[in-house]
Amino acid sequence: MGVEIFPGFAASKVLYDSENSVIGVQTADMGLDKNGEKKPNFEPGIDLIAPYTIFAEGARGHLGKSLIDKYSLDHNSQPQHYALGFKELWQLPKEHPHYKQGSVIHGVGWPLSETGTTGGSFLYHLPNNQVAVGLIVDLNYRNPNLNPFEEFQRFKHHRAIAKYLSDGERLCFGARAIAKGGLRSLPKQQFPGGLLIGCDAGTLNMGKIKGSHTAMKSGMLAAEAVFKSLVAPQPEREADYQIEFEASWLYQELTSTQNFGANLHRFGEPVGGLLNVLEQNWWPKLFKKSVPWRVMDRTEDHMCLDGIDQSKPIDYPKPDGKLSFDKPSSLFLSGTQHDENQPCHLHLRDPALVIETHLPQYNEPSQRYCPAGVYEILNCDGQPQLQINPTNCLHCKTCDIKDPSANIDWTAPEGGGGPSYRGM
Ligand SMILES: Cc1cc2nc3c(=O)[nH]c(=O)nc-3n(C[C@H](O)[C@H](O)[C@H](O)COP(=O)(O)OP(=O)(O)OC[C@H]3O[C@@H](n4cnc5c(N)ncnc54)[C@H](O)[C@@H]3O)c2cc1C
Ligand code: SF4
Repeated sequence: MGVEIFPGFAASKVLYDSENSVIGVQTADMGLDKNGEKKPNFEPGIDLIAPYTIFAEGARGHLGKSLIDKYSLDHNSQPQHYALGFKELWQLPKEHPHYKQGSVIHGVGWPLSETGTTGGSFLYHLPNNQVAVGLIVDLNYRNPNLNPFEEFQRFKHHRAIAKYLSDGERLCFGARAIAKGGLRSLPKQQFPGGLLIGCDAGTLNMGKIKGSHTAMKSGMLAAEAVFKSLVAPQPEREADYQIEFEASWLYQELTSTQNFGANLHRFGEPVGGLLNVLEQNWWPKLFKKSVPWRVMDRTEDHMCLDGIDQSKPIDYPKPDGKLSFDKPSSLFLSGTQHDENQPCHLHLRDPALVIETHLPQYNEPSQRYCPAGVYEILNCDGQPQLQINPTNCLHCKTCDIKDPSANIDWTAPEGGGGPSYRGM
C-alpha cells in the first residue's frame, strides 16, 4: 500500500526548507557512545521527507515543543497545563469479593488534598480479574517536598482502594505526563508543511480523563485536511486543519470542558469542582449549550513551586511490599530499557543552576518529582553533585515540564529504548 513503518527509530530533528516550511524529520543517529563518539555499529540518522509531516509524539513531545516555539503556535492560548499520571495493573484472585467487571471509580481528594494539590484517581475493573489503578497529580503543585510517586503509593492504602487490591499481585507500573489544559491551551495545530495532533497538541478531554478517542479523531481530521491540500494545493503548504476541527464533534466536546482544569486550579477542588458540575451537568441541561464564560490559568506549571523554607516537610511511610512499593521494583515492572553506552538524552541548559540555585531554593525537586529516580544529589567529599541516571528514564516528560527554571530538555534516546508497558 506504499506504507512504510520504522519501529525503533526515534525522530530527533525537524527538517525545514529555505522558506522555513517543514519538509520532514531526521531519525536519530544510532551507535554513538556516551561521549558522542562513533561505535563500530554507527549509522547516521536518515532524512524522511514528505509533503506534509504529522507530529504525534504524545504529551510534551520534544519536536512538538520546538515547533510550538518556532512558529509561536501558542501565542493565542493559555499555557499548556500538565499532570503526572501513574497507573498500575493488578491481578486479583478468582472469586475476589469486591471485583466487578466493568466497574469504574473516579476520585478526588486524599492524599493530594493534604498539600492543597489537585488531581484525581481512577480504578477500572477490567476483564479476567484485573484492575487498573491510578493517580493523576497536577503539576502546578506548590510544595517542593511533594513526591508524586510516593503520593500514589500512599493512595493505594486508602481503605476504599485497598479492599480491591489486597491479595492481588501488581503486574505492571507506568508513569506519563498528561496534557490537560484542554481547548484553551490548544496551540495552533497547523503550520507550513505539517500538523500537530493528539496529546502532542493537547486534545485530551480532562473532564473525562480520556485522550485516546480525541487523539484518534484529531488524526482523522488531519488526514482529511492533508488530503484536501494534496488535491487542491494550499498556499505555503498549510493544510487547513482548523476548518475541519471546528466543524467536528471533537471541537464541541472540548468546548464543553474548556474551563474544567482552570476552575480547579483557580478556585481549588471544592469550589472548582462545584463549578465543573454546574458547567457540565446543570447548565447544558437547562440551556442546551455550553457556558458562555471562560476561565483561564495563565501561570505555567514550572513557575508554581514555593521555596523550601516556606513549605511543610512531608513524611512518606515506607512501602509495605503488598500495596505500596519502592521505585526500583516499580521500574522493573515498567520494563524500561536503554543501552547504557549512548549519549544522555536529558539536557540541562545551564548545569550550574541545579546546585547553585535549585538546591538551596527548592532542595532540587527533580529528586522527588522524577518517578524513576533519574536525578540524584550525591555528596562527593562534602560537596553536593548532581548525578543523572538516564537509563532509568520512563519518558514521562515531567522534568521537561516541572523544572523550576525550565532548564531541562528531554530528547528522544537512541532506538527503541524506553518503557515497555505490557497489558497497559
Ligand atoms: C495514567 C494515564 C491514564 C490514562 N487513562 C486514559 C483512559 O483511561 N482513557 C483514555 O482515553 N485516555 C487515557 N489517558 C490518556 C491517553 O493515554 C492519551 O491521551 C493518548 O494516549 C494520547 O494519544 P497520542 O497518540 O496523542 O499520544 P501517545 O499515546 O502518547 O503516543 C505517542 C507515541 O509517540 C512515540 N514518540 C514520542 N516521541 C517520539 C519521537 N521523537 N520519535 C518516534 N516516536 C515518538 C511515543 O513513544 C508514543 O508511542 C491516560 C493517560 C495516562 C498518563
Ligand atoms: S528523567 Fe524526566 S522524563 Fe525521565 S522519568 Fe524522570 S522525570 Fe520522567
